[in-house]
Amino acid sequence: MRLPHNDTTNGWANALPPRSANPALSGDHRTDWLVIGAGYAGIAAARRLAQNEPDAAITLIDARAVGEGASARNSGFVIDLPHNVGADLNDPEAQYRALRLARAATQELDTLAKAHKIDCQWSAQGQMMAAKSAQGAAVLDGFVAGLDALGEAYTDMDAAAVSARTGTSYYRRAIHTPGTILMQPAALVRGLADSLSGNQVHLFENTPVTHITYGDQIVAQTPNGTITADKAIIAVNGFAPHLDAYKGKLFSLQLFCSMTRPLTDEEHQSLGSPADWGIVPAMAFGGATIRYTKDRRLTMRSQFRYRASGKLTEADYTAARTLQAQQIKSRFPQLPPDMITDTWAGQITLSQNFAPGFGQPRKNVFTAVCQNGVGVTKGTISGLLAADRATGRDNPLLADMLALGEPSTLPPRPFLDLGVWAKMKWWEHQHRFEA
Ligand SMILES: Cc1cc2nc3c(=O)[nH]c(=O)nc-3n(C[C@H](O)[C@H](O)[C@H](O)COP(=O)(O)OP(=O)(O)OC[C@H]3O[C@@H](n4cnc5c(N)ncnc54)[C@H](O)[C@@H]3O)c2cc1C
Repeated sequence: MRLPHNDTTNGWANALPPRSANPALSGDHRTDWLVIGAGYAGIAAARRLAQNEPDAAITLIDARAVGEGASARNSGFVIDLPHNVGADLNDPEAQYRALRLARAATQELDTLAKAHKIDCQWSAQGQMMAAKSAQGAAVLDGFVAGLDALGEAYTDMDAAAVSARTGTSYYRRAIHTPGTILMQPAALVRGLADSLSGNQVHLFENTPVTHITYGDQIVAQTPNGTITADKAIIAVNGFAPHLDAYKGKLFSLQLFCSMTRPLTDEEHQSLGSPADWGIVPAMAFGGATIRYTKDRRLTMRSQFRYRASGKLTEADYTAARTLQAQQIKSRFPQLPPDMITDTWAGQITLSQNFAPGFGQPRKNVFTAVCQNGVGVTKGTISGLLAADRATGRDNPLLADMLALGEPSTLPPRPFLDLGVWAKMKWWEHQHRFEA
């Protein structure tokens, strides 16, 4: 079983004060519900189980400290739109389903962030999907057609409008959609975990599950003890391929992100003193996802790697940092050459047909995995709905979720490795105009 490990590279976490993790499990523990994985999906599942069964004992467990996984390493976009708007105009019902799910997740997170006063730079600034090249602008035409078909609001921004809003003249056009929320992901996921109801949800951190025995009872083995549960929800996202139900159906990519120090007053003014903003690229494999945060840092997310082992080398990090320093320079030539303080990586997990791993592989086991790269909203809603499904609570969104289908079977390795590699190279080539 491949297990996650803590590292200290995540800039979002490093920008926060230290947090004391809950103790790791020691000894044998009995619970009604076991939730494995404390990212957006697992935390949402544990919270919803507590709401649905207020007398049940719920145990949430993570291999790492909360705020170390992908949930804390992402670019901090809470995206309220289907990821592929405009991709399939022939199936508007699929788009509406994805929209309802994403909106419900955004609403849930908005309510929790405000109710628990989570200090995570929560900001309703929307997002700009931006293009530098004519090819990228053509992709935006398809995006606009999709938004029109859905009846969604947007603003078409020309180069001058993008420059006035962001301080970079790099882009020729952007489409602003108002529903996306921007946030500090390590602060949000910490706040979500720490606000879980104290006595009912028992959180063990730094406690990897190394083996699971299934039966009428589920027994999870950890390095210093066991957990015996009646039912379980598995929310380990990228670490799910070892589960029988998803063997040969999921694969992971590693993504890199860099963060700068906060800009000085003069540097901030050189950008036109903008409010915080977020850009996603029109062409994902060539462009970059960029944030200007409330505390005046730039973050730059670009570069994908496919490492079946999950292991990255020093050279991978150096290459990402060098590229991202160049990308900051080409967009903001007015800033000093290398302001990057942190470069980190995280993984996203995908299925070939982009279906989620929302399943029930056994009578008493449910899964909320495979968020296809948009896990802030998809993870949140899949965890919440897994808990509703597991407790028999009626929720009309369950039909939307189940209609997304199941992950299809991938080609066996090494054909899978070759196929992913070739596809990534092809996309990088096609998207090179946006670099
Ligand atoms: C650089 C980057 C940028 C991204 N940007 C965005 C973005 O802007 N917006 C967006 O929506 N998504 C984004 N994503 C994707 C998003 O971060 C993920 O989809 C999301 O974190 C998935 O949430 P999750 O709860 O399903 O899984 P995770 O966050 O991966 O949580 C799973 C948890 O399970 C734990 N675990 C695994 N195995 C075990 C085990 N054996 N025992 C115990 N615990 C275990 C892990 O430690 C982990 O904490 C980005 C990802 C990356 C890497």
